[in-house]
Amino acid sequence: MTKPVHAIPDPAVFTPVSIDEQLCIGCNLCLLVCQADLFLPNPIKGGAPIVMYGGECWYEGSCVDYCPVPGAITLNGQLFNRVRWKEADDGGAGRSEP
Ligand code: SF4
Repeated sequence: MTKPVHAIPDPAVFTPVSIDEQLCIGCNLCLLVCQADLFLPNPIKGGAPIVMYGGECWYEGSCVDYCPVPGAITLNGQLFNRVRWKEADDGGAGRSEP
């Protein structure tokens, strides 16, 4: 007898990768090469993998490197690297909003 398993991606964690479900062919190569095991296979055959454990991402990018479909998966920069720097009025470095 098999028991159903229910899993919900952690909504409190920033999503380190975005998958374009229109482009993704569901080959699961990203899932196989991910060294941090972020993904779960989609229960629907051919569907995009589910980013389940976003907080575990190492940002090393193998998912993007191995994806055979350009643009299907995007590695999002870490939040602390998303700020834009600009010169402040006094000539020093200031920080603007991301
Ligand atoms: S490697 Fe690319 S096309 Fe294949 S499942 Fe992952 S995102 Fe989709």
